[in-house]
Formats: sequence, structure tokens, C-alpha cells
Amino acid sequence: MEQNAEVCIICGRDQQTGILICDQLICEQCEQEMIRTDVKEEKYHFFVDQMKKIWYKMTS
Ligand SMILES: [Zn+2]
Repeated sequence: MEQNAEVCIICGRDQQTGILICDQLICEQCEQEMIRTDVKEEKYHFFVDQMKKIWYKMTS
């Protein structure tokens, strides 16, 4: 398996710290923003879309 660089799946920036979901990094900044973002906000759908990419990677 190829080792991914530590790049946040949400913002695409190189990050040293964050949470790993299925080997995909989500940086602390994005994690905090996701927690703060209300479901009704447009940005929430952006996060959901980014999260979907993780599942696509898993199943492909
Ligand atoms: Zn990020």
C-alpha cells in the first residue's frame, strides 16, 4: 500500500497534527471548524463532500 503524505483531506495543506479517519488526515483546524459548523450552513456540505472522498477511496 502506498503511504500518503500528511495532507489534510479537507483543506489539502500539509499538517503535522490532526485526527486520522481511515488513514486520512483531518487537521486540528478543520476538525474544530467542522465541530463548530452548523448543519444548516453551506460550509457543512463542503465538509460532507470532503468526507465522502474518504469513503470513495476506501471502496475503490
Ligand atoms: Zn485541514
